[in-house]
Amino acid sequence: ASNSYVDPIFLNDLTHKVIKEDNIKLENATILVLCRNWELKDILSSMRSLEDKFNKDYHYPWTFLNDVPFDDEFIEWTTAMASGKTEYGLIPEEDWSTPSFINQTKYDESIEYAIANEIIYGFSKSYRNMCKFNSGYFFRQELVNKYDYYFRVEPDVEYFCDFQMDPFRLMREQNKKYSFIMTLYEYPATIPTLWETVEEFFQIHPDYLHPNNSYDFITDKEPIGTAALELGESSYNLCHFWSNFEIGDLNFFRSKEYIDYFNFLNEKGGFYYERWGDAPVHSIAAALLLDKEEIYHFEDIGYNHVPFFSYPRGEQIKKHKRCIIPKDKDSMDVAIGSCLPRWWKLGGGKKFLKEYYHQ
Ligand code: GDP
Ligand code: MN
Repeated sequence: ASNSYVDPIFLNDLTHKVIKEDNIKLENATILVLCRNWELKDILSSMRSLEDKFNKDYHYPWTFLNDVPFDDEFIEWTTAMASGKTEYGLIPEEDWSTPSFINQTKYDESIEYAIANEIIYGFSKSYRNMCKFNSGYFFRQELVNKYDYYFRVEPDVEYFCDFQMDPFRLMREQNKKYSFIMTLYEYPATIPTLWETVEEFFQIHPDYLHPNNSYDFITDKEPIGTAALELGESSYNLCHFWSNFEIGDLNFFRSKEYIDYFNFLNEKGGFYYERWGDAPVHSIAAALLLDKEEIYHFEDIGYNHVPFFSYPRGEQIKKHKRCIIPKDKDSMDVAIGSCLPRWWKLGGGKKFLKEYYHQ
């Protein structure tokens, strides 16, 4: 007799998942994951959390993207964990790797500089590819093209409260185009020339600036307002939406304005010569190209991505949404390093959409 355990043969019948059709009208949306094969355990943990708190009641499809093919083990386990269908896409080489216009010598020097100065992820070429991909390509992948909304999920994150509503429906009905949970300050060493590049872009396209933008959220002490941006005299205060959680309108990213913005940034080379993150790139675009009413703060989900936690504040919400708050973990929302108080001060989040929540 062998000691090794073999699955009973009938388990093979479970390979075809039956997705229960509830009478819920779904949005044209997907849960979107970019990750690596070796992150399987951590993405299963994120999936378990999001399925239990939200998707088990909706069965939205999951879309997985990778710069190398997903292996069979990854596909089998994530398919089993999802309550909706799963699709797996390989990112085309040209959407991922270093563009040919990048000067190799200058790039190598910038990596050395980043290592010497201990810039976070500064040593990593794949991290730069990832940030560029998440800035300019995720919304135009073959598997993603058919959708209007996405919910970005990363490995090893956790959601603390029952959703009790469909965030995609909220986004569509309330005409929201970008949403966040946490907002923080970016590491300045990763983006030395990002803001001057943004200024240059808006000098060429002043008409792209939304009249009801969130300029005041991302700049400080600017007596002449957005005019300073066009004059090249504004300054970025480093506030950005933390993009490891995002629910967004894919058609915003596919717009001419965003694509022009991305192309302009990309051609400047800052994703490679510096280490521009997709978070400030998305955030600056959302803040300047969108109406500030089109940006939504999901304050009642409760979320952790290392090293920060965010919790809803109201006792009623915590009770009725069955939030479990890990002990000894302070919410980032009003901690030093959070830009959320600034968001509130500027009028963000005034309208809590209570009609979306069970009473
Ligand atoms: P951090 O959140 O900034 O610390 O960075 P992560 O390591 O979590 O990376 C951000 C996201 O990109 C996660 O979903 C990762 O799984 C994914 N990611 C990062 N690098 C790569 C890569 O080289 N290939 C693939 N396929 N995914 C990556
Ligand atoms: Mn992460």
